[in-house]
Amino acid sequence: MSRHPLAAEAGLGPPRGLARERHAIDLLQRDVLEAVALSRPLQVVMDLLCRRVEALAPEVICTVLAVDEQGLVHPLAAPSLPASFSAAIEGAPIGPKAGSCGTAAWRREPVEVADIGHDPLWDDYRPLAQAYGLAACWSTPILLASERVGATFALYYREPRAVAPFHRRMVEACAQLCQVALRNDEHLRQIERLAYYDGITGLPNRRLFADRAQHALQLAARQDHGCALLLLDIDRFKTINDSMGHAAGDEVLRQTALRLGQCLRDSDTLARLGGDEFVAILQDCSPASALQVADKLRLALAPALPLPGHAPLSLSASIGLANFPDDGADLEQLLKNADIAMYEAKRAGRGCARFFLHSMNQALDERLRMEAALRQALSAGALSLHYQAKLNLADGRLMGCEALLRWTDAELGPVAPDRFIPVAEECGLINALDAWVLEAACRQLAEWGRAGVAVPGVSVNVSPLRFVQDDVAAHVALLLQRHGLRPGQLTLEVTERVMLDDDTRTREQLQRLHQMGVRISVDDFGTGYSSLGYLKRLPVAELKLDKSFVRDLESDPGDRALASAVIAIGRALGLRVVAEAVETLGQQTLLRELGCDEAQGWLYGRPLPAAGLAQWLLSRRPAANDG
Ligand code: C2E
Ligand code: MG
Ligand code: MG
Repeated sequence: MSRHPLAAEAGLGPPRGLARERHAIDLLQRDVLEAVALSRPLQVVMDLLCRRVEALAPEVICTVLAVDEQGLVHPLAAPSLPASFSAAIEGAPIGPKAGSCGTAAWRREPVEVADIGHDPLWDDYRPLAQAYGLAACWSTPILLASERVGATFALYYREPRAVAPFHRRMVEACAQLCQVALRNDEHLRQIERLAYYDGITGLPNRRLFADRAQHALQLAARQDHGCALLLLDIDRFKTINDSMGHAAGDEVLRQTALRLGQCLRDSDTLARLGGDEFVAILQDCSPASALQVADKLRLALAPALPLPGHAPLSLSASIGLANFPDDGADLEQLLKNADIAMYEAKRAGRGCARFFLHSMNQALDERLRMEAALRQALSAGALSLHYQAKLNLADGRLMGCEALLRWTDAELGPVAPDRFIPVAEECGLINALDAWVLEAACRQLAEWGRAGVAVPGVSVNVSPLRFVQDDVAAHVALLLQRHGLRPGQLTLEVTERVMLDDDTRTREQLQRLHQMGVRISVDDFGTGYSSLGYLKRLPVAELKLDKSFVRDLESDPGDRALASAVIAIGRALGLRVVAEAVETLGQQTLLRELGCDEAQGWLYGRPLPAAGLAQWLLSRRPAANDG
């Protein structure tokens, strides 16, 4: 049956044969233990074990399957079976009727099946076994230190049969070897966890962080993009630890890690440096986006943390930011500077973020000051509107006016919309601001109507954000009704950003406004985007040729060509084209020649308060009559 000298004696076992057997098993044990001692990967050790067993007993086929915590099997070694066999059982669950191995792991005891063809334990796996010519199988579970079954060691035969005594002695030795190898592997992995991960939060520790951050910085340098290092320290953590105990403190760290992790991208690495200090490296990140991330993290920590046995706890954190490469060329320098920035944040009253660079903090302070002043202005009614006339280029008729927001702060002085609108957009004030403008402009138009001032319509600028955060169409419908205005009297100026937005809310509102009869105008047309497909899809009535094309119209043939193209697009699609910021007669002549419909600018009139516009209208009436 077999050509191997030891195998020939299998089951017969004369005393002389037994000694040789024991010697062969000793050699096998020695070699496998050596592989374990040299920390060879588990798969390699198990593969060696199986090959040596098969060399001693060529009539057996040997396999080792790992069993994970979920009770699923993963083949570790099956050197004499094709890879397709391992692939077929990968991830299969253990169970009371799951072949020899799955059942042995389930029962936590050896399972011996002498005839796979007829044993009910193999019902679900019989076709698979038969396809690979396996007819009998004896499987032994291997226990980990935790008493959980971590693997199975199995011998297969190609014909139905019982297990030979020699094979039993061999398996006894091998089961022990498997156990040693598995436990050693478990230890190695535990050591790795301890060496690279934080025991409390499960986050990477300082060492692994350094490794990943180094890599991120190299990548950033090579691809020439920015990178930010964010250092976060929980405010008053020591008090929490001292007053609530270390178990509560640990729980706070765990929950903090979870909340912070949810705010970051997969490509960012979050780590715990120790104590209550967390650090993150943000890949491909500008200073502005780093600040946004910091805001997001602070917000995520704000809701009270539930703590077993204690009242829910509100947390705040101080954050220091350092940007690569401006604030440091290497990790060490970045960490040091982020630390300085973090202490700056603590000094500024905690619960906030600070940059390392002084200049950035000044910008941040200015933003915060402006934000507070703007809030104050809105609630105190310190904002006002100016109106600028919009004229028909052919005959000078007044077509309407644009409402432009004006703000003069007691300390900051007059602040231009180009400065405060972006701040309002960032801090979430834009919604209230634009809603106020819309209402004030509608009220003014109605007032002019009642006073017999012939202003045919008003244009109002609407921030793209408002379409996302609010229902502009519903607000417009309400205002038109409240002030008795016709929808055609109102034009909403939106930028191309809105048109290209995929947000369905935005599109749906634009459609509703159009159906109502409200005009939509594309402001600053021609700046920024090249895609014009939206002009056909969306209900646009008017294009405003951006002032950057008008300014050098007389001297720059390029600008003239662009202006001409915009006007041609408008004509082709049946849209009115309005030129912004017309200051000279030369510009006016050229625009007229190019076929531009309307114009707005200092040549005709500066933006004026409502009374000023009425005055201006009166003063020009004789001139208009002359024309
Ligand atoms: P915009 O909508 O393109 O407004 C036209 C800007 O050109 C206005 O600046 C206006 O004062 C200015 N302008 C008018 N005629 C001339 C001229 O002949 N020469 C030059 N050089 N400029 C002229 P303003 O008022 O500073 O507004 C700037 C931007 O702020 C506006 O650009 C608009 O995007 C935004 N904005 C103004 N009011 C509001 C508002 O109520 N809500 C929103 N969301 N944005 C507003
Ligand atoms: Mg505008
Ligand atoms: Mg504009």
